[in-house]
Amino acid sequence: MIRIAIDGPGGAGKSSVAKAVARELGIIYVDTGALYRNIGLYVLRAGIDPKDSAAVISTLDKFTLELRFEDGKQVILLDGEDMGDAIRTPEVSMAASAVSAIPEVREYLLNMQRDTAKKNSVIMDGRDIGTVILPKAEVKIFLTASPEARAKRRFEELKSRGNTTVTYDEVYNEMVERDTNDSTRKTAPCVPAEDAVILDNSKLTLEGTRDEILKIVKKKSKIKKSLIYTVLKPIVAPIYNFFICSRAIGLENIPKEGGLILCANHISAVDVVTIGAHTKRQLTFVAKKELFSVPLLGWLVKSLGAIKVDRGAGDVSAIKASVKAAQAGRILSIFPQGHRYPAVDPAKTPIHHGAGLIAYQSGCDVIPVCIKVKGGKYRLFKRTEVIFGKLIKNSDLGFTEGGIAEYKAATEKIFNEICAMGGYSDLPAPTPKAKKKRK
Ligand code: C5P
Repeated sequence: MIRIAIDGPGGAGKSSVAKAVARELGIIYVDTGALYRNIGLYVLRAGIDPKDSAAVISTLDKFTLELRFEDGKQVILLDGEDMGDAIRTPEVSMAASAVSAIPEVREYLLNMQRDTAKKNSVIMDGRDIGTVILPKAEVKIFLTASPEARAKRRFEELKSRGNTTVTYDEVYNEMVERDTNDSTRKTAPCVPAEDAVILDNSKLTLEGTRDEILKIVKKKSKIKKSLIYTVLKPIVAPIYNFFICSRAIGLENIPKEGGLILCANHISAVDVVTIGAHTKRQLTFVAKKELFSVPLLGWLVKSLGAIKVDRGAGDVSAIKASVKAAQAGRILSIFPQGHRYPAVDPAKTPIHHGAGLIAYQSGCDVIPVCIKVKGGKYRLFKRTEVIFGKLIKNSDLGFTEGGIAEYKAATEKIFNEICAMGGYSDLPAPTPKAKKKRK
């Protein structure tokens, strides 16, 4: 899960470049300027002066504005209709700039923008994305260029859309006026966030700007592996894999970057080691709080970046920390069954809703992982297989507005995928103890 905020004045090329970056990273591009443009268009068509705040505010409950994504492409419906290029004229640009200075208009569009970024990895462009809409975005870029370079680009763009009457001077003057409006208004002025990287692309091509942004994204989202992990993993993992004859299938299904949840069946306390011994990226996992106070082991668990869970006191803080870790771009390893069930019938496995809840709150995609061990128990020199299944997109987990029923259904879907990989075919029937535990 990654949120990239691109702010900056008009004509800096935000939308073209953001589209190119979105394509490269396989994430959604959100053009927030188009929302203001739709309101600007509505107001103009209603014969209202876009600078007349009271009149503009009174229209806000007279139309419907819907932001949705079809095949990953943004669609905005004003009263159920896609306005297309009608929102791209110079008049609408000025109207959008005027209505966007009205706090009530900004408030009206706030949640629409935030909700989109809650559910998806996004690159969102606008004026206040890094400062107001997504103040916690992982990457913030303020893209700018000289007024001359920006006016030239806008002029070419308008010409290519068939506008033959507009002159360069008109475009330049309109751009400078909009710059002043946007950067001096009281609410959400167009200024760089304190933690934004400022990128001047006056002399860069679209591809050059895209590559610069990709570099910034890569640098910012690089998760540092802990020192102890970096030192121990290359030594311990091959030895561990050798002793339990462990081999991995489907490692290529794990994305190289970004937050992710690995959900596996739970056979033993060492499952997380079995999975982590194969993944290139370091895993974040949840460990019982008692482990943290065991000498040496506690230090090791802490150094490996484990999340502490107090099982008796409810898992709220562990869930929050897990969501945060996944949102920060880490891989979280969790076990939907909650407890260890070395030998279970998948149909009777109790499904908790934690995995679904974490997936919903983090917005991250999920990979089902199936640990297959002969006889349902790890044994020295007996074959172990770790199968990394196909990625389940967060948008395919059936979330609408959250809630326990949705979390449970999502967890069940993930768990069914784990079972479908055959994790249980080798396992013996449930022991009476395991049966009792399930009840
Ligand atoms: O980016 P674009 O030129 O399409 O935006 C049109 C107008 O909408 C801008 O001039 C700006 O006034 C307003 N806007 C805004 N905040 C955003 C996006 C656009 O105020 N996040």
